[in-house]
Formats: sequence, C-alpha cells, structure tokens
Amino acid sequence: MNFILEGSLKGLNKWLRFLGYRTEICEKKITKETLLQNKDKVFLITSLETAEIAKKIGVKFLLLPKENLKTQLFMVITKFNLTPKLKLDLCSLCGEKLIPVQKENFKDEIPPRVYQSINKYNYCLKCKKLYWEGDHIKRLKEKFRKLLSLNVQSKD
Ligand SMILES: [Zn+2]
Repeated sequence: MNFILEGSLKGLNKWLRFLGYRTEICEKKITKETLLQNKDKVFLITSLETAEIAKKIGVKFLLLPKENLKTQLFMVITKFNLTPKLKLDLCSLCGEKLIPVQKENFKDEIPPRVYQSINKYNYCLKCKKLYWEGDHIKRLKEKFRKLLSLNVQSKD
C-alpha cells in the first residue's frame, strides 16, 4: 500500500516510513488533478475540502485530525490494518528501500566504537547515507511504544 501525505503530515510520514510503508509527501495543495493522477494510492489528509473532492471522484483517503500525531498514527494503523512494528528498512530522508551492506566496505564512514560493536548496516543509494542500529534506534523504539500506548491519560 502506497500513501501520499498532505504537506502538513511530515511527522506521520516519518513514522510510516519507520514502519516500512512507502510514502510520499505532497508539498503543494492536493488538487483534483493530483488525486486523479494517483488513484492507485491512498491519500492521508487533514483538509475537509480535499476529502470532499476525493470522495466525489472515488479516490481512497483518510481524513485525519490536524495536530495530534498519536491520534493520526493510531487512526492510520487501525484503518488500514498496518503492522505496528518498526521495520526501519526505508530511508527516513527519501523513503527508498535500504540495502544491507558489509561494514568492511564502509570502514572510513563508521566511527571506530560503532564499527567494533555493531555488525548490521543498511545503506541508501539515493542519499548515500549509512544506517546502523545505535542508541538513537533504542530511543526511537521507546518513543514508538509511548506513541502507541493509548490509555495513559484515561483515569476512569
Ligand atoms: Zn535516502
């Protein structure tokens, strides 16, 4: 399933990529033409106006609240039955599929401490960026758990 997200949904876009879903951001206003050209994709939007056009011409969409990332993520996961697991197999910058690489080939780019302790590396050919599972991934997983914990605030 490929998603096209409204420009205001960059936070959500990032998390969907972490989950391994293919996404793109539409920076311009989503017009009827944009919708028609991408009928095979699902639009994630916050604009009621866009929702009405999409409905009229039969393009798949989900209307989301403007601000709350937690709610947005929950709604998308529930509606499309997505697997709420961080796959981290897409480049978080451009959304391309990462390819596994041998660390020996990237020795110059990896800090020595990381090189010694981590064996799994992925690479984005488009951005020329190397990824590995360091401390920031641990923090990311923690943040994801918090994002998905929905009943924290309800006391009764
Ligand atoms: Zn990339």
